[in-house]
Amino acid sequence: MENQMNNQAGTPSDLTPEYGAEQFDVIFRHGEVIDGSGAERFCADVAIRDGKIAAMGDLSHAYAKQEFDIRGKILSPGFIDVHTHDDRACIDKPEMLPKISQGVTTVIVGNCGLSLAPMAHPDSLPEPLNLLGQAKDFIFPDFPAYIDAVNQAKPAINVAALVGHNTLRVVAMQDLSGAASEAELAAMTDMLAAALEAGAIGMSSGVYYRPGQGANLHELTTLAKVVGNAGGVYTSHIRDEYDDILASLQEAFTTAAEGKVPLVISHHKCAGVQNWGRTKQTLPFIDQAREHQTIHMDCYPYRAGSSVLDPALVDNKIDIMVTWSEPFPDMGGRFLHDIADQWQCSQKEAAERLVPGGGCFFQMHEEDVQRVLSHPATMVGSDGLPNDPHPHPRLWGAFPRVLGHYARELKLFSLEQAVHKMTGLSASQFQLGQRGLVKPGYEADLVVFDPAAVIDKATFESPCQFAAGIEYVCVNGVLGWQQGQPTEQRAGRFIHRNANNL
Ligand SMILES: [Zn+2]
Repeated sequence: MENQMNNQAGTPSDLTPEYGAEQFDVIFRHGEVIDGSGAERFCADVAIRDGKIAAMGDLSHAYAKQEFDIRGKILSPGFIDVHTHDDRACIDKPEMLPKISQGVTTVIVGNCGLSLAPMAHPDSLPEPLNLLGQAKDFIFPDFPAYIDAVNQAKPAINVAALVGHNTLRVVAMQDLSGAASEAELAAMTDMLAAALEAGAIGMSSGVYYRPGQGANLHELTTLAKVVGNAGGVYTSHIRDEYDDILASLQEAFTTAAEGKVPLVISHHKCAGVQNWGRTKQTLPFIDQAREHQTIHMDCYPYRAGSSVLDPALVDNKIDIMVTWSEPFPDMGGRFLHDIADQWQCSQKEAAERLVPGGGCFFQMHEEDVQRVLSHPATMVGSDGLPNDPHPHPRLWGAFPRVLGHYARELKLFSLEQAVHKMTGLSASQFQLGQRGLVKPGYEADLVVFDPAAVIDKATFESPCQFAAGIEYVCVNGVLGWQQGQPTEQRAGRFIHRNANNL
């Protein structure tokens, strides 16, 4: 059998190192390395010591406490899930099985304007902040309290965090319907600056969502400048991903340009049947802006989105699968048209009865998904919702699906490009320090996968499934996943902004 640990099979005398041989903690031998930079794969042994990649190349004379023969397998940087809502999950479910089982070693939390911190004991929790948990879960008055909680939970993977603009508004403002007053904006500025100082990597906004809708350009640019001054990143779930997408993209471009901050357009899509095909318009529009400012995108590899169930999105043209419903928990996993048939009402009426709830919206065209995913400025982010009882399968399958379905089966791009979109590109845009590459001196966040077998198993019908083909996952040099199963060791930590430069 391949992949046996030499020191399990050997006798004590076999373990004696050659005189003068260098000793490491772990060596992966004979694998093909895809280093995350986009460069072509090459054969090399890779050694780990003290949590870092210590050596690469022919290490046949070296020795390690744990050695693995990974012939025929790919060793790459651990995947970075740049778009998550795992703010609470990384504390409450520190095993982080949906992520480590995909080869993910770092998650970026706090996307779409929604972050768990800084907010403590809200009287009520407006949608969609309830995607992160209930009011009782918001117990972090400042960012250091959140960072401490993450580190105390010892999650299996690393966590870096954005500050959510909607969260800041809910804390600072009395009336969310309009733009912040100067006093409210000053309070938001102070909270944001303190969070960035504590180690947040930037700010996310989600002015599509009701708590953020009232924000105007002055409010957004004022806050973007705070992020720019701190050297952070700005991510935007834009105001409208449907008919008004170009104006909404322009609002994000202007905000980032004024703030002198790099921009990431969250889960870029052209939603709604009437907008299918419009990535032919939006991607050149983004490319044009990219000539003047730094812009990237993230994307999940599915034609359905998922969020809170909004009856306004029910148009009888797209399919909607209910993922959860507070008044009708049994309806999770069922299509809205089935429920409407059963209740003998319109789909809109059914949705109105089902809220508060969540849904998967089959609102994109596959060709648009592929165009966005293959764009050189696109990174992979799952946008998975860990609290849903019947979640969108992207929570458990996004990364292996890009590798297995889009790279291997459809040949949309090379495996090297696929890995780059989930490692090197992501670490550089989110300023994660020495991660995202297989390079001596870098943190040993690594994944070993079988390029012939890697594939997602999670489906819309049965969404909570381990992917196939993910063999080993190392987080900060520690094996957290081995031969298709989690180990007992959890070695993730909170990653501060520009951690290596502080
Ligand atoms: Zn979003």
